[in-house]
Amino acid sequence: MSAPTISKAEVLEGYMGEGYQLTTVEKVLGLARANSIWPLPFATSCCGIEFMATMGANYDLARFGMERLSFSPRQADLLMVMGTISKKMGPILKQVYTQMAEPKWVLSVGACACSGGIFDTYSVLQGIDKVIPVDVYVPGCPPRPEQIIDGVLKIQELVKHETMRRRYSPEYQHLLDKYQIGG
Ligand code: SF4
Repeated sequence: MSAPTISKAEVLEGYMGEGYQLTTVEKVLGLARANSIWPLPFATSCCGIEFMATMGANYDLARFGMERLSFSPRQADLLMVMGTISKKMGPILKQVYTQMAEPKWVLSVGACACSGGIFDTYSVLQGIDKVIPVDVYVPGCPPRPEQIIDGVLKIQELVKHETMRRRYSPEYQHLLDKYQIGG
């Protein structure tokens, strides 16, 4: 019987020697943050059901350090928006976003959240990026759990490589100003 393959933990860039490794604080923080994301699921309709499947045993989002869902915005750093968002709900979504502490990221899951989907009507918000900034878009109606996981992996890449000072940068402030969100 062949020995099972064991994947090793990611080795950070830096100087390595016998029993030590030198790297930067940013790289360590990025790796820690990326593997301990606390998501807030903002699920309003069918895409939310796909998210439930993504959390289930077959797909198991816990493999990415994300099994701890947060239903309080103040204890979450990834806002996952899944489903149709009506215009009436826009201000509530924005309030949830502003209650989250920095650093925070947004994953828009499914056609409705990304663009209003098939609901090109007077009452549906034509994409959540009309009210809050979005980091990664996952297309599909609904997207399969594999696509949601792909979106999560892309968020993890962003988190890993975000500099510690990005949230204080003029570019980030400008982005928040565009959405009339106080920084
Ligand atoms: S994108 Fe499709 S599956 Fe997802 S909430 Fe909209 S209608 Fe439902």
